[in-house]
Amino acid sequence: MKDNVERRALKIAAKIMTAGGRNMTSNIMCNACGNIFDVKKILTKKHGDYEVQYFVCPKCERKYQIITTDSKLRDLIRQRKRIDRKFQLMRGKHFRKEAIQKMEFELSEVKKASERMAKGLK
Ligand SMILES: [Zn+2]
Repeated sequence: MKDNVERRALKIAAKIMTAGGRNMTSNIMCNACGNIFDVKKILTKKHGDYEVQYFVCPKCERKYQIITTDSKLRDLIRQRKRIDRKFQLMRGKHFRKEAIQKMEFELSEVKKASERMAKGLK
């Protein structure tokens, strides 16, 4: 089953908030005109401290909002990416169990905080 465009926008948001993720930006069907397109560019609009990221249907120019962030949330996202990367590097090497558990905990806390915040900003 194909995702609808809003669900796909949520997935792209999740991708923005994490380090990795597969390509979620192709084969999107526009709700307004039915056009199927790939997201080539994610646009950002600034309102003071807030940044709204969105993409646009190339045919009818309908906007689809992906995520709204403020500087606090952007900080959290950066933090999360940094921990994620560290975690990737640690994987497969011989680290003490406690060190890995500590990282896991840290990551899940940052994850929770950024998800809570993203919801509040919607
Ligand atoms: Zn369209």
